[in-house]
Order: sequence, then C-alpha cells, then structure tokens
Amino acid sequence: MARNGYAQDFDLIDVPGYPGMKMVREAALQLAGACAEYWMETGDKPGILETFRTIATQKHYAATMKPGTFARPGTSNHGLGRAADMDRPLNSYRNWQWGTWNEIAKRWGLNNDQGRATGANGEPWHYVYVGNPQNRATGREMDDMANLNDTLNATRTELTWLRTQQDQEAAKLALVLQIVSEGFTRVDWLRARMDEIVPPTLKMADDVLEPDKPAS
Ligand SMILES: [Zn+2]
Repeated sequence: MARNGYAQDFDLIDVPGYPGMKMVREAALQLAGACAEYWMETGDKPGILETFRTIATQKHYAATMKPGTFARPGTSNHGLGRAADMDRPLNSYRNWQWGTWNEIAKRWGLNNDQGRATGANGEPWHYVYVGNPQNRATGREMDDMANLNDTLNATRTELTWLRTQQDQEAAKLALVLQIVSEGFTRVDWLRARMDEIVPPTLKMADDVLEPDKPAS
C-alpha cells in the first residue's frame, strides 16, 4: 500500500499549467480541467499554493504551526497527492470568486468538504479530489490550459513592451518640457533686456500686440 507522504509511492505528475505542483495523475488532470474552466469563465488563472506534501513537510507543519491547523503526519490528503490549497481570492468564503470556483471544482470531482470541517472557521482554500466527476479531463482541457498559458505569457510580454514604450514616451515628454522651460527662461531674459533698452513710449506697442491683456 502506498504510504502517505512518500512521493515514490505515488504516480505524481505536475498539475498541467502549474510546474512543480504535484498530484496523483487523475487529481492533477481534473484540477487542471477545473482551473481551465474557471480561467475561461472569469479571465483569471487560479493560483495554487501547495499540493503534494511529503511526510517530512507534514511533520514540520504539525510541529511548528498552530495545533489543529494541520493534519497528523500520515493522515493528510496532501500526503496522498489528492489535495490542493488554492491561492487568493479562492481562499475566503467571503469572496464571490470562491462560489464560482467551488461550483466549477465540484463538477471536476474536487470539493471543500474536508476544508469546511477543519478548525473553527474552516479552510476555504483546501480542495480534495474525491472522484466521480461530471467533467472528465481529456486532451482538450490540457490543450486549453496550454493555450491559456501561451496567451497569458504573450499578454505579459506585450505589457512589458507597452511599459517600455510608456517609459520612453515619458522620457521624451520630460525632454520637451525641459526645452520649453528653457525657452521660457530665455523669453523672460529677453523681456528683461527689452525693458532695459526699449524707451517707455515704445513699450505701448507691447500692449497692442497682446490683445487679450486687459487695458490698464
Ligand atoms: Zn490543504
């Protein structure tokens, strides 16, 4: 029998779209399907904080964290590669995103039942793959996930480019403002010089040249 928390005892794979987040194959594929559907529906890629947990990590948590917040080593669904902890905003019952996510997750065979029953306030983020899904992951969801990842990366690249452009425009604008400001300084200097050298009678013409200026 597979021992809870011992990676070599499980057929672990990365959750597609989440490098390093390992779960047992079926749970990983189903979670990816749920994430892809949520992503397509809301436009936001769900974040995953933790999936498979080794026995060493579980022991560490149990020993260092608040009592009752972590399962006894050897009993966690994380140690079976069947649980995933979701990131914000899917970590609070108060967030509307949680409800949307919860409905989708259930269709893919994941639920928060264990999470809700944990501690005084529950663990909204904790999802366990329990099987019997309405939706089954096929190659299509994996393609969807790959496409969404490509789109996200392309958007990030474009955003970086746009920011660079924006920075360049800002630099140009700063240069123009500097030139204009130097121009004004020069005009002020010329006005001062004019006041010094032009006879008072001729200065009348200056008022005529600026019709907007109210007559004094
Ligand atoms: Zn958890």
